[in-house]
Amino acid sequence: RPRVLSGIQPTADSFHLGNYLGAIRQWVPFQDSHDAFYMVVDLHAITVPQDPKQLRERTRISAAELLAAGLDADRCTLFVQSHVPEHAQLAWVMNCMTGFGEAARMTQFKDKSAKQGTDRTTVGLFTYPVLQVADILLYQADAVPVGEDQRQHVELTRDIAQRFNSTFGETFTVPKPFIVKETAKIVDLQDPTIKMSKSASTPKGIVNLLDDPKTSAKKIRSAVTDTGTEVRFDEVEKPGVSNLLTIHSALSGTSIAALEERFAGRGYGDLKKEVAEVLVEFVTPFQQRVRGYLDDPAELDAVLARGADKARAVASRTLAETYDRVGFLPPV
Ligand code: ATP
Ligand code: MG
Repeated sequence: RPRVLSGIQPTADSFHLGNYLGAIRQWVPFQDSHDAFYMVVDLHAITVPQDPKQLRERTRISAAELLAAGLDADRCTLFVQSHVPEHAQLAWVMNCMTGFGEAARMTQFKDKSAKQGTDRTTVGLFTYPVLQVADILLYQADAVPVGEDQRQHVELTRDIAQRFNSTFGETFTVPKPFIVKETAKIVDLQDPTIKMSKSASTPKGIVNLLDDPKTSAKKIRSAVTDTGTEVRFDEVEKPGVSNLLTIHSALSGTSIAALEERFAGRGYGDLKKEVAEVLVEFVTPFQQRVRGYLDDPAELDAVLARGADKARAVASRTLAETYDRVGFLPPV
């Protein structure tokens, strides 16, 4: 079976709607068509400062959210990145395959480091896309389901895989990004020019899946739209309204065209009210499922331990082959 791999950072108390619609939701059906590897990327999380106790908690919450979103540990390999040491080990080799200038061109690094200033920006943040290269190549992934903001990192992975293969002989599968256009970039509710983001959004701009549904409904009702009145999908002229239509359509399964028809001659207020309803209908049972998983942390940890064993079986093979290809003397 072809392979998929993706990951998500445990850098907040909850995933947001962009994470869910842009990435996690696409992960679910791959469990039936692909050999699927999904992980909570705690190594990536420490590229910015983290409180240790909070990081541990958020790692468990993240796993619980992934299960609640429809991942099934019997049909996929669900694990925590730091449980599989091969990620850090392969990352070193990949660091030595990556040009400094090439890494410096990564737009996420430029954005995040510009916000922090050079003295507070870590070398880890700089090489984080290269760790991602290692994450993907370790599993010989054919496809990487992500949001639009990760496209550049998957392109980097392709370049480095090809470079390694042509230098040392066929070793890695060259992966393709899998990006669902409609939901690839859910924008911030207060600033539709930026993506909804754990690190960059203000509290009013982000819909967290684990927030009180009433709070989320209120945020949707106060989302920025525009001075017009027509409910129409137009990402250039009406980014705020288009975002709400995208969210409604993705959660309710109603096409955008059908929604435009339904809201013809009605105002933004009606649209927002209905988006809020659709959202509450989704998050309420989702939150219940998350609480169920968190009620039994020992079972959750056991699920993650089994996932790490399955992941290591694959990762250790790729790492051994890579070490051999680059010429490391095997230990006897
Ligand atoms: P951070 O701001 O700390 O980078 P994040 O919100 O971008 O956090 P990540 O854990 O980096 O979350 O990303 C997890 C997945 O969610 C990735 O596949 C990413 O492309 C996707 N994603 C993140 N934000 C959005 C968004 N606004 N719309 C669609 N997909 C998104
Ligand atoms: Mg991100």
